[in-house]
Amino acid sequence: MEWRGRRESSNIEDQRGSGGGFGGGGGGMRIPIRAGGGGIGLLIILGILWIGFGINPMSVIGMDDGTSSSQTQTAQRGPGVDGTADETDNFIAVVLGDTEDVWNRRFQDMGRQYRDPTLVLFTDRVSSACGNASSASGPFYCPNDQKLYLDTSFFRQLDRDLGASGDFAQAYVIAHEVGHHVQNMTGILQRTTEMRQRMSEAESNAVSVRVELQADCYAGIWAHDTQQAGYLEKGDLEEALNAASRIGDDTLQRRSQGTVVPDSFTHGTSAQRVEWFRRGATSGDMNQCDTFNGRI
Ligand SMILES: [Zn+2]
Repeated sequence: MEWRGRRESSNIEDQRGSGGGFGGGGGGMRIPIRAGGGGIGLLIILGILWIGFGINPMSVIGMDDGTSSSQTQTAQRGPGVDGTADETDNFIAVVLGDTEDVWNRRFQDMGRQYRDPTLVLFTDRVSSACGNASSASGPFYCPNDQKLYLDTSFFRQLDRDLGASGDFAQAYVIAHEVGHHVQNMTGILQRTTEMRQRMSEAESNAVSVRVELQADCYAGIWAHDTQQAGYLEKGDLEEALNAASRIGDDTLQRRSQGTVVPDSFTHGTSAQRVEWFRRGATSGDMNQCDTFNGRI
């Protein structure tokens, strides 16, 4: 992707190197667990959801795209290891800025107003309005604070462990999370979250897959517009399609546990993720991203 010298988003919150979030080392505990405060209350509510409805609270609040629980953090990161790649920061800021341009224009065309999300960079652990999370959960979007959360070590994992290399693989990850923000703006995220709370786990997972595939399709819409603007390089779309394939539920499950349990899918198969990204990228038409009606 051609990104050098282009506008960088200012909607980035860098929470790295500040003690690693809650429970981080060395007196930098920014966000302690507040006795009797909202944190505990949220945990209790989520705990009840989990026990009462068999819903993984992480999925209720949109934790996401991980290589999830089966993958453990491998890299031992010391100071600087993560932060050395200044270029990565610039790249992320340009991609986020590009999504702002695309979606502001798109919403304007629909006669609506887009609100730019904030991207939080963190290391290891982070506290969001959706609860606490660790890097192991992968990048995620929290609708409550309208922020995207990203530990850039995920990019390394994507490249080295999952075989999804290239800058546009990384751009796709960001664009997918922004896709969830778009869903928050259109109201689909709230509606599906409410629906899912009344469902069985298998049903809830099935809805989650449709939500995720729509976010993939919206990532494709972004790629489409960015290509129209002339910023894509040869091989970029292939990098995104490869990444979509590498993080399909069936592929991840086969890697981590050797078997595949379709009822537990929350993001869709590799084939589905590739298909919906491609659909958005080739059509450039948001109406083509209706994953909620008909077959997926
Ligand atoms: Zn997602």
